[in-house]
Amino acid sequence: MFRERGIVIHAEDCLNDYWADRLTGKTGEGLHLNVVGVHPAGGHDAHQTMEAAIRMLSTPEWAKFASRMDKAGIAVEFEMHALSWMLERDKFATHPHWFRMDETGSRTPKFNCCASEPEVLDYIRERACALAKIFVPDTNKYYFWIDDVASAGCQCEKCRSLTPADQCMILTNAIAEGLEAGRPGAKQSYLAYCATLTPPKIAPRHNVFLEYAPIQRDHDAPLADPASEKNAGQITPLPALLQYFEAAGCLADAKVLDYWMDNSLFSGWKLPPKEFHLREAVCRADAAMYRELGFDAVTSFGCYLGQNYAELYGDTELAVYDGILMGK
Ligand SMILES: [Zn+2]
Repeated sequence: MFRERGIVIHAEDCLNDYWADRLTGKTGEGLHLNVVGVHPAGGHDAHQTMEAAIRMLSTPEWAKFASRMDKAGIAVEFEMHALSWMLERDKFATHPHWFRMDETGSRTPKFNCCASEPEVLDYIRERACALAKIFVPDTNKYYFWIDDVASAGCQCEKCRSLTPADQCMILTNAIAEGLEAGRPGAKQSYLAYCATLTPPKIAPRHNVFLEYAPIQRDHDAPLADPASEKNAGQITPLPALLQYFEAAGCLADAKVLDYWMDNSLFSGWKLPPKEFHLREAVCRADAAMYRELGFDAVTSFGCYLGQNYAELYGDTELAVYDGILMGK
């Protein structure tokens, strides 16, 4: 059994009773999930979906959702690509040197930013400090990721020798520092996926934890399946990542964010949702592997499986997923 058993749902799924009914036991399924991650969708418009989620936090529907989770003992967290909200892209007009230099040597407001410019790191700290008080997680674990892009590092003279993982860790450390200033004890996720799977050389701040998200995996084969080249690419860096966080004394909060229940991914991130079935054998094998590696916090995206989905296809196999995380 994992200590933290999660599901990550879209912010708009908190505005009706469907997920709350299932998670709190009203539907009689007897689930044991104890963490719900609220996720404003990523992509190019992540800053806008985040702004919409901020407005949602002051609605009565949100208050009802949060209260139902609280009464059921389910912790609420928030997971999102937050960098474009923290560093508004229109700052490019006045502060181009804060932004990323692309391969052609031009500064661009597209994706992430320069990781070596002290002014922009100060600005990100300030914005993270403010954000710490807007999305307040029950666990004090924050998930404010950099932009939703496979690899977009700055190529300026100072950043050029830094890997995408190093640049991500510099930005993550700045966010972590700002969060701690805004909320004592706050911890910040380092999202290891795509180009940031390779362990960085820059040390993590004491309040940074590993969040491993193998998005480029083969979803139809267990991660440990030796026949899957894709999955080998996802898990080969994992032991070194774990060692890196252990050496920094940051391993205790390490978490898995997988995709077993991510019907937004299986629907190509386009509505309407496609019919979804949990790849049960894959999920079971992966859970066993994660347990062996020492993870005790595991979650999965569970997007496109809310009320709209149920109206089209009925309820999903949430209880099967729940049972796997319970070690059944
Ligand atoms: Zn740079």
